[in-house]
Parts: sequence; C-alpha cells; structure tokens
Amino acid sequence: MNFSRLIFSAFAGLTALAASAFGQSRTIVVDAGHGGFDRGGVPGQRISEKDKTLDVAQRLKRILQAQGYRVVMTRDSDVFIPLGTRCAIANANRGASFVSIHFNCASRVGANGIETYYYRGDSAGLAASIHRNVVSISPSENRGIRRRGFYVLRRTAIPSVLVECGFLTNPTEGRLALSADYRQRLAEQIARGINRQPAASSKPLTASLKSLSLGNDFVKVPPERTYRKRSSKARSHKSSKSKSSKSKKKKSHKKSSED
Ligand code: ZN
Repeated sequence: MNFSRLIFSAFAGLTALAASAFGQSRTIVVDAGHGGFDRGGVPGQRISEKDKTLDVAQRLKRILQAQGYRVVMTRDSDVFIPLGTRCAIANANRGASFVSIHFNCASRVGANGIETYYYRGDSAGLAASIHRNVVSISPSENRGIRRRGFYVLRRTAIPSVLVECGFLTNPTEGRLALSADYRQRLAEQIARGINRQPAASSKPLTASLKSLSLGNDFVKVPPERTYRKRSSKARSHKSSKSKSSKSKKKKSHKKSSED
C-alpha cells in the first residue's frame, strides 16, 4: 500500500465513521431495479432499464466500499429477484439503509426529470439528501421527492428510498444514461446523498452528448411477439396491492409521470 492509497483509505474510513456518528447506517443495501426477464420500462423501450440500474448499482457499491461501508447487493448480475426477496434481504440487515435504483419511462418522449420516492417518515431525510445531490448534476427537470407506497418501500423495515435517475424514453436523459461517465456521476451523487453531503451547485455537461446518436426510434422499436406479456409483468413490479388496485395505481402513477 503506497502513501496516497493509505491516505485515501484513512479518509474513506473517517467518512464512514462520521456517518455512523451522525446516526447513519454503515451498511447499505443497494437494489438494482428489475433484472432477468424483467427489463423494466415500457413495451418496446429501446434502452433496457435493468442494465442501467445494475451498472449504477455496481458503481455505487464500489464507491461506498471505498468509503468504508458494508454493501449488500440484492442482485449483482442480470437475474430476476422477486420483490419479496429484495425486501427480505433488506430486512436481514437491521440498522442498514436500502437504496433502490431505477430509471423512469413514459410514452411521451418529452417526459423528463429526476424523482425520488420514500414511504415511511424515517426515510424522508435520506430521500431528500439523495434527491438534492442527484438533481444537482442532472440537466433536466426536478420532479421532486414523492411519498409513494411502492412495494420495496412499504415492505422494508429499514429506511428505504427509490430513486428514478431520469427517463430512458427521453432523448436527452436516454443519451445521458448511455454514458458511463454520467452513470458514474449518478452513483457518486447517490453516495454523497447517503453521506448526507450538501449538493454541489453546478449544472454542467450536455456538450459531450451531441456525439451520441441514437436515431429516431428512441421510444419504440418494432414489437416483439412475446414482449407485451413480459413487459406488463415488469411494469407491475414497483407497486404492490391487489391486481386491480395495482393496475389502477400504476396507471395514475404513469399519468402523473407524463405530466
Ligand atoms: Zn424501474
């Protein structure tokens, strides 16, 4: 171990120590949304949500571990994990915090922005801290912090937050999500939020994005035969209740998402 590495480790250790001194969790359960047959998003969506959530989650894991946190992943590869299992993993880590990573979608390409969800009051501070940090580096709309009874927020017994890191159906945010640099920055900001750090004030980038071209069929690709069935299953994942209230709720959520 060289000197600079030693200094870095000492700093990272101090960060985690400071976090625990302020009553924050030293174990973070990182939940990459979707996975396996569940791609996430709307039917025909060009950018697969499950890959982007996993990538951000793995980046977040590395950042947090370097800071001295213990990190538990609900998934660390492209596999389907039922929501109940994700919650069970969270609840097996008392004293931890749970951070679920998603990207948004809408049938309207114009819909854009960052939104962060929590359910119980014990999660509101963490949601606010993550939200203000992620919003600070996003060139798009601040859609706010919202209280919603998503399954992984209601059934987890530890502070739990779900962050929607932008709309993959929006050309600007989709391009951002395709950039490894931007996904790294998302992970860094989520980590800053977990550390309760103040938000950086800059609103940079977009210049480098012009080099990325996705063509015109950003939202829709030709439908696949088995696709619709899988996707309707996938879309039901975040919410919770009985089938009918589930679809009703999802519909109203989607509607509000597109506003
Ligand atoms: Zn999702």
